[in-house]
Amino acid sequence: MAELDGKIAVVTGGFRGIGLATAKQLAAAGARVAVLDLDEPEKTAAEKQLADGVGFLCDVCDVEQVRATVATIETELGGIDVLVNNAGVTRDSLLLRMKDEEWDLVLNVNLRGTFNMTRAVSKGMVKRRSGSIVNLASVVGVMGNAGQANYASAKAGVIGFTKAVAKELAPRGVRVNAVAPGFIDTQMTARLPGKARNMLMAQIPMGTLGQPEDVATVVRFLAGPAAGYVTGQVIVVDGGMVM
Ligand code: NAD
Repeated sequence: MAELDGKIAVVTGGFRGIGLATAKQLAAAGARVAVLDLDEPEKTAAEKQLADGVGFLCDVCDVEQVRATVATIETELGGIDVLVNNAGVTRDSLLLRMKDEEWDLVLNVNLRGTFNMTRAVSKGMVKRRSGSIVNLASVVGVMGNAGQANYASAKAGVIGFTKAVAKELAPRGVRVNAVAPGFIDTQMTARLPGKARNMLMAQIPMGTLGQPEDVATVVRFLAGPAAGYVTGQVIVVDGGMVM
């Protein structure tokens, strides 16, 4: 018997990258997984990779879409046991050149989206006095990064949110943790210019980029019963970049 047999898991931003790798890990652990994301063509491709997984088009910034999607999942699949807030975007720019839209979008998707989803899903978890929430932060939220004032603020916000909500929901049987990846090989980092990429690589003691699976296996651990006495923590997965 696998550790998440019979459980329902939701992964936002789950059509590709770290989200899809996480959905696959949770499915391998026995969970029925719902993946939420934006693009229709990627939905079918993601569903094909997840045995009985289901894709939903849902923008985590849109409160009404979030409410409706969570209600549909609870009706069609059952009460949600695991929520992974993974949807994220970057819009890098130096502070003096940063546009309002770049600030707003990054804060909205990474932080507001995490709030929208957590509020909607935790209601059922609290009623059932059981659940596990894992938020995707970033090492950038801990150490900062030039050109990412918006993203660093959002991810530092995710860490604060994780700890506040962990304290609030611990007495109600719900654990809340975060994973802070370093430099992982996905579409998000593929668009980094060569110079920035080389500078980042030089800071990784293990000397290689992480793979989405490196993050997904840690999310799987936090989601499941092996981490049953762990809450309010941030686990860094970065090849030794931040210590
Ligand atoms: P990615 O760009 O490959 O995937 C992100 C997914 O989120 C995409 O499928 C995208 O469509 C989806 N998404 C974006 N906006 C959304 C919205 N409003 N509603 C629903 N879905 C939305 O990125 P990734 O590298 O797989 O990143 C996954 C998470 O890990 C993000 O939160 C990211 O900030 C975090 N992270 C990534 C790295 C890295 O090096 N790749 C490092 C630290 C943290």
